[in-house]
Amino acid sequence: MIIRDIQVGEISLPLARPFKTALRTVEHVDDIVVRVVADTGEVGYGEAPPTAVITGDTKGSVACAIREFIRPNLIGMDVEDLDGIMKRLHSCILKNTSAKAAVDMAIYDLWAKRWGAPLYKLLGGARTSFRTDITISVNPIDEMVADALDAVSRGYDILKIKVGKDGTGDVERIAAIREAVGPDVQLRVDANQGWTPKQSVAIISAMEDRNLNIELVEQPVKAHDIAGMQFVTSRVYTPILADESVFSPADAIDIIQKGAADLINIKLMKTGGIHQALKICDVAELYGVECMIGCMLESKLSVSAAAHLCCGRSVITKADLDGPSLCSVDPFTGGPVFEEALVTMSEAPGVGLSAIPCEHWS
Ligand SMILES: [Mg+2]
Repeated sequence: MIIRDIQVGEISLPLARPFKTALRTVEHVDDIVVRVVADTGEVGYGEAPPTAVITGDTKGSVACAIREFIRPNLIGMDVEDLDGIMKRLHSCILKNTSAKAAVDMAIYDLWAKRWGAPLYKLLGGARTSFRTDITISVNPIDEMVADALDAVSRGYDILKIKVGKDGTGDVERIAAIREAVGPDVQLRVDANQGWTPKQSVAIISAMEDRNLNIELVEQPVKAHDIAGMQFVTSRVYTPILADESVFSPADAIDIIQKGAADLINIKLMKTGGIHQALKICDVAELYGVECMIGCMLESKLSVSAAAHLCCGRSVITKADLDGPSLCSVDPFTGGPVFEEALVTMSEAPGVGLSAIPCEHWS
């Protein structure tokens, strides 16, 4: 199965509601999509959201990296030579992790189709379904409480609450949500780098003192402030999850060895795809650290690839794959089934999606 072409397109899907974090407000999923065409006529699909504030990638940079650097390096290669393809993909251009992720997942899609198996089975086959949380955007307290109750009424039992814009006022947000949803709903808190190290310790300690029972706090401090995150992790009982601080396997090793976080959040757009994400899984497993798998504002296309990884590896014990649920439409055919909190794999070969809502490929 030889790679004959790599084509780029665009998709745009409206979100059901604006997505608000300490870093940004977004109303559409507006992503680059990729298809890798093999000489057999089979196609692998990938997707990359241009998350400028986190990865530095824009639509233009993703499309250019794929067309000018990745495509000429991979055309003519045999899909069975997955190792060789991945070496070239990751050496033909530095950084550009979203572009690499889109092509990586399309190649893995084709590779699994080559062997006639669903991708998650070839990645390890740890499970066939999992539950994801859903994100509650940062808003006035009343609105966040209403959104939390709505999510619980739709069957979500894990909520990821965005904070980080309001310092110690964030404690009241979380307390109000805990009071409203009761003790049985798991609450994760994501500050998206919004606190200083000392603020983080004060806020997390206050949440502990009030018995708000928070499962984890994600990326409390600036991405580059590893010493600051270590300061926080060593002073609170609540587990700290590194997100924006960990892009590569080398980042994961550094964070784990320094004790700067208790958990690692893997996102394909940070690692540059499944190949590098698997290395983080291996590193984490060696050190006895559990991983979460997350997504950016992505459609079902790329989130499905992440879902396969989640089902492949048991070291991924938490899922934050709510991208498809946040979109107001689902124009895709096939792939894993996203039913609110429950994600169930299909037995179709590859990632499983058979129709992509993109009309112009070039
Ligand atoms: Mg995060």
